[in-house]
Amino acid sequence: MIRLKNVSKEFENGITALAKISFDVAQGEFVYVVGPSGAGKSTLLKLLWREEQLSAGSIVMGNAHLEKIPAHALYKLRRQLGIVLQTDLFIPYYSVFENIRYCLEAVGVKKAAIKERAQAVLEQVGMEAYQDRFLNELSLGQQKKIAIARALVNQPPVVLADEPTANLDAKSSLEIMKLFFRINQSGTTVIMVTHDSTMVNTVRKRVLELRAGKLVRDEVRGGFTRFA
Ligand code: ADP
Ligand code: ADP
Repeated sequence: MIRLKNVSKEFENGITALAKISFDVAQGEFVYVVGPSGAGKSTLLKLLWREEQLSAGSIVMGNAHLEKIPAHALYKLRRQLGIVLQTDLFIPYYSVFENIRYCLEAVGVKKAAIKERAQAVLEQVGMEAYQDRFLNELSLGQQKKIAIARALVNQPPVVLADEPTANLDAKSSLEIMKLFFRINQSGTTVIMVTHDSTMVNTVRKRVLELRAGKLVRDEVRGGFTRFA
């Protein structure tokens, strides 16, 4: 359902962040994206949600050619995607519930349905007891859970996550990873950039490894490094 063919990305400064990347991801797959800093991992995710436009090649998601979607129709793509970025931007003077409500309103969910939908996603991440808290009253791990809840508001078929366990302690990291595995078990495709070698080596999933913009490895149950 996601198909990249010879995808390249060259930034205006001449840096080639990705060079001729090709791979397919079936609906319901879980994919770790690994590789050293600067390899192009974040850029790959950015192409998938059209934060950046590719320079060459094609990306098909569902029945849409991403590179052909006009700016005014991008919201349709974004509704199919749950996105968890490295830095979670929230409205600090809104409570957890209000932050989620804000997203639901932005995607046009009717007022009458908002409370129920917000509670449903907060329950999914085990944070329903925190809905009246402000974000800065939560730990980083708890904030990440809210970011995940927010990514789920549209019940997207695909979730993209950029290093969701960065800066978290081992216990929080494990909780966050378990959440993603559970989301995946319900049929959602998960594509996750991660440096969490322990997790990649323990819970074996498909691994895509990038190095200097090239796809150097695509293994069904790969480790963090080739010989791990
Ligand atoms: P990773 O996520 O694997 O650390 P990135 O995708 O962030 O790698 O970056 C890949 C390469 O592209 C790096 O050389 C980085 O400096 C460069 N790059 C990333 N974003 C931009 C940008 N907006 N403009 C120019 N170069 C960029
Ligand atoms: P990462 O942890 O993915 O390596 P970076 O710290 O390299 O992230 O980059 C942070 C942000 O800066 C990213 O959004 C990336 O697109 C952008 N960026 C990275 N390198 C460059 C660059 N050379 N020029 C402009 N923007 C860049």
